[in-house]
Amino acid sequence: MGNLSTIRTKKTLNRDDIITLLNSTGDDLQELYEYAAQIKEKFVGNFVYFRGLIEFSNICEKNCYYCGIRSGNRKVKRYNLTDEEIIKAAEFAYENKYGSVVLQGGELEGRAFTDRIEKLVKEIKSISDGKLGITLSVGEQTLDTYKKWYQAGAHRYLLRIESSSKELYYKIHPDDPKHRFEKRLQALADLKTAGYQVGTGVMIGLPFQTVENLADDLLFMKEIDIDMCGMGPYIEHTDTPLWKYKDQLLPLETRFQLALKMIAILRILMNDINIASATALQAIDPIGREKALMIGANIIMPNITPGIYRDNYKLYENKPCTSEEAADCSNCLEARIHLTGNKIGYDNWGDSTHFKKRQ
Ligand code: SAH
Ligand code: SF4
Repeated sequence: MGNLSTIRTKKTLNRDDIITLLNSTGDDLQELYEYAAQIKEKFVGNFVYFRGLIEFSNICEKNCYYCGIRSGNRKVKRYNLTDEEIIKAAEFAYENKYGSVVLQGGELEGRAFTDRIEKLVKEIKSISDGKLGITLSVGEQTLDTYKKWYQAGAHRYLLRIESSSKELYYKIHPDDPKHRFEKRLQALADLKTAGYQVGTGVMIGLPFQTVENLADDLLFMKEIDIDMCGMGPYIEHTDTPLWKYKDQLLPLETRFQLALKMIAILRILMNDINIASATALQAIDPIGREKALMIGANIIMPNITPGIYRDNYKLYENKPCTSEEAADCSNCLEARIHLTGNKIGYDNWGDSTHFKKRQ
C-alpha cells in the first residue's frame, strides 16, 4: 500500500500512522498482517509459550460495568477453588511441560487474601522445584503486597488498563473510590517497582470507544514500556450495565478484526514484548487465537481450571471450552498451534525479551 510502505520506512509509528493502520482494509490489511508476522519472526521467533490459566475464584469486590462476575451480579454462582485444587492444576501444568501458570481471579483486599496468594505462590514453586513460572492477575494491590508476592516467587503480573482514556474508563467503571483510574496507573507503576514483568491491555470494541482511543491505547503501552500485553475484543454480557448499549456496538466480526489489527500494530510498535492471544478471540472465531498467533501474538493461555468451575467464570457470553477438562485442551491446542507454523516452547518460561533488555 501507499500507507504501509511509507510507514515501514519510519523508525516508529506516530498516532496518525496507527489510525491509518487501524482503518486499513483489503490488500492494505493483508500487508499489515504480513509485516507484523515478519517482525514477530525476526524479534521473538515463531514460538508460542504456554501459560496454564487457573481461574481460581469468581468472587470479586469490584463492579466493573462490562464484567459478568462483577460484585453487583447476583445471578452468578460464586466459587473459590480450594488450595488443593489449585495446586493440582499447577501440577497438571508442570507435568504437561507448560512452563508457567497464571493465577487469575476476582479482586479482593485484605490480609487473608494476600496471605493466601503468597502461600499458593510458594507452594507452586515448591511442587515444581522452582521451575514453573508464575503470573498473577488479581487486580490492584498495594506496593507492599506486590513486593511480598514477588518475593514469594511470582515474576509476572497482568493488569489491564482496560482503556487508557480516563473519560472512557469512567464510562465502563463506577466513579467511586474502588475504581480510580489514577489508582490503576499507580498499580502499574508499582508492579514495575516491585520487579515484575508487567503486562497490560485493553478491551477492543467497547461502547463509546473510537479508533483514536485505540491508537492512544497502543501509544500508552509504548509510553509506560510494558513487557507483555493481553488484549482482546469486548464481548457483551446480559447481566451487566453495559448490556444496554449492545445495539450501538460494532458487529462481532468487526471487533474481532480490530483486535487482530491492534495485535499486529503493537508487534510493529513494540517488537520484542510478549503478546498473548486472548481467549475472547476464540469466543468470536473458533480459530481466532490461531489467527492472532500468525500475525504477532506469541503467548497462549490454555485454561486448566477444573471443568466443573469453568461455567461460573463467565466474564462474557460464549466463553469457549467451559465444558472441557484441562487434558482435552492440551491435545487440541498442540494440533492447532502446529497448523499456524509456530513451535511450542515446552518447559520454558518464555520470558519477554523486552524485559531482559530492560534489566
Ligand atoms: N479481576 C482481575 C482479573 C480477572 S478479569 C482484573 O480485573 O484484572 C480479567 C480481564 O477480563 C479484565 O482485565 C477484562 O479486560 C476482561 N473482561 C472482563 N469482562 C469482559 C468482557 N465482557 N469482554 C471481554 N473481556 C472482559
Ligand atoms: Fe472484578 Fe476483574 Fe471483573 Fe472487574 S474485571 S469485576 S475486577 S473480575
